Amino acid sequence: MSDKPATAKVKGTVSVKPEVCKGCAYCIEFCPTKSLEFSQSFNRKGYHYPVLARPETCTGCDLCGVHCPDFAIFGRRLKPGEKA
Ligand code: SF4
Ligand code: SF4
Repeated sequence: MSDKPATAKVKGTVSVKPEVCKGCAYCIEFCPTKSLEFSQSFNRKGYHYPVLARPETCTGCDLCGVHCPDFAIFGRRLKPGEKA
């Protein structure tokens, strides 16, 4: 067994709108690859917002976006050769 973290075969990334986020953490909880974490900083409303802490494991499945009640995060697949 390797100690290296699992890298997703399908590459994805997320777009976050920090100022819309209200810090409910649904996106973090429902991400199947645990790629998201809360930011260290706060948005203007005083909430931590999600950041893609482990981009190498994101598949772009958009389950984070599906569960966000405020449309503050979207996941998408990267095109072949596209960098996140
Ligand atoms: S797109 Fe999928 S894998 Fe990537 S952060 Fe969102 S839920 Fe997780
Ligand atoms: S689900 Fe949406 S509102 Fe909740 S923490 Fe994630 S981005 Fe913010």
